[in-house]
Amino acid sequence: MLMHVIHMGHDVFKANDKLAEKNRKNLDKHGIFAVNVMGAIGSGKTTLIEEAIKHLKDRYRIAVIAGDVIAEMDASRFRKLGVPTVPANTGKECHLDAKLVENALKEIDLENTDLLLIENVGNLICPVDFKLGEHLRVVAVSVSEGDDIILKHPMIFKTAELAIINKVDLAGAVDADPEKMHEDILSLNPDVPVLLTSKHDWESLETWIGFIEIGLMKAKEGKSN
Ligand code: MG
Ligand code: ZN
Repeated sequence: MLMHVIHMGHDVFKANDKLAEKNRKNLDKHGIFAVNVMGAIGSGKTTLIEEAIKHLKDRYRIAVIAGDVIAEMDASRFRKLGVPTVPANTGKECHLDAKLVENALKEIDLENTDLLLIENVGNLICPVDFKLGEHLRVVAVSVSEGDDIILKHPMIFKTAELAIINKVDLAGAVDADPEKMHEDILSLNPDVPVLLTSKHDWESLETWIGFIEIGLMKAKEGKSN
């Protein structure tokens, strides 16, 4: 984050914010609900997105922007589920920005999309500063990152609209306390919903998927108004 401030200055953030607003208007025009999934490498972003696709694709038309470092690798995982996927190659950058998303949107059939899932690059720092035009900012964190990870990265948790503590089934094995992590998140952002999830626990995934569905319904209402 500091690096960006020094090398780019605030104009870059302003320009990005403007473009993010433009993306948002474009998405709204088409009644699309867009979710930006942020989190470190290994936090389980790809799996959370895959689970959402599996359980929503029969009812909603889904597209994915895969912006992880090895974007093509995750993109093929999403394509296997039968959803159109655009890999966003960030080059050397460690985050997605609104320009990359604007370009990716050109490759998506917006008329025939209800839900856009965006996997950001695995990083807990600079994605915070780059809005994409999304409706929901999600941060995923794995217990395997250690239960002190949250207080080390306060900004992403302060600005998140949904926080997911993932891989909670591994907590004992990695000696992490998910409840401490939960409390740390609330100490930074008292109003943010926090979900504790594991890919081996369907009920926990249902809460994540339900969260997306509420947004989808709101986006549809917005379009019909
Ligand atoms: Mg991934
Ligand atoms: Zn970056």
